Amino acid sequence: MKIAVCVKHVPEAASRRIDPSTKRLDRSGEGALNAFDANALEEALRLKDASGEGEVVAVSMGPQKASDTLRKALAMGADRAVLVSDESAAGSDLVATSYALGKALAREEPDLVLLGQQASDSDGAVLWAAIAERLRRPMISQVAELTASDGKVRGKRQTEFGYDVIEAPLPAVVAVSDAINEPRYPSLKGIMGAKKKPQETLSLDDLGVESERAGEAGSKTEVLGLTDPPARGDSRRIEDDGNAAEQIAEFLAEKRLI
Ligand SMILES: Cc1cc2nc3c(=O)[nH]c(=O)nc-3n(C[C@H](O)[C@H](O)[C@H](O)COP(=O)(O)OP(=O)(O)OC[C@H]3O[C@@H](n4cnc5c(N)ncnc54)[C@H](O)[C@@H]3O)c2cc1C
Repeated sequence: MKIAVCVKHVPEAASRRIDPSTKRLDRSGEGALNAFDANALEEALRLKDASGEGEVVAVSMGPQKASDTLRKALAMGADRAVLVSDESAAGSDLVATSYALGKALAREEPDLVLLGQQASDSDGAVLWAAIAERLRRPMISQVAELTASDGKVRGKRQTEFGYDVIEAPLPAVVAVSDAINEPRYPSLKGIMGAKKKPQETLSLDDLGVESERAGEAGSKTEVLGLTDPPARGDSRRIEDDGNAAEQIAEFLAEKRLI
């Protein structure tokens, strides 16, 4: 079975900032593999190990630096990596991102596309649905247990009232929940081996993405404004000089909360 795993390169949480001139997330600094996508990759590797055959391809769309994330995916065990990187893709919203990424995925013709539950920088938790629509494939989201056999995938999702067990024919798209597994750490052998694995970088031209369907031109949404959150009202800062616990208890008692 051929599995394509979508992995996003996200800016480090500590240095995340919006560029006020473009109203976009500044992606020029250090970044890392979106933690939720490590769950998707881990699941792909387990499915491959369980069947004893197949291929796991990590696919990302982002700046050139996203190759660091793909190298990590290769070090974890992916067989191959594909990066969609093009300056004209900057400013792509969901519609433009799903169009270009959908083209890269369609080119791979995978049996299964796996995604994480959300990207920790934009937190849309929606790209998987858009990808399934682009590829015209069935999709299951929030999957906490996954099996694949006899040309079908079966996913167990936790709901408010219990579990749903949903089956879909392959090829299909599945977004996993972060409860599905504990992702492995890359081994030293994996890190060394990653350098020799095939990595491909594709431009929008390579994928046949028309310029009017990429970047801001291909986006249907526009960020109109950005504001700081409102200042907090009545708050008190307590520095721990040895009796912070007492001061917190006094504060709560004052507010009649304890
Ligand atoms: C107006 C606007 C402007 C934007 N401008 C930019 C921009 O300039 N540059 C930019 O990078 N983003 C930009 N974005 C964000 C970009 O559109 C989102 O990254 C995209 O829509 C995916 O949504 P998400 O990140 O919330 O992913 P989610 O829907 O939260 O992600 C779900 C899963 O999809 C997969 N996934 C998500 N994104 C990628 C990716 N890029 N590659 C591989 N897998 C992925 C991962 O498996 C992830 O776990 C913009 C968004 C808007 C609304």
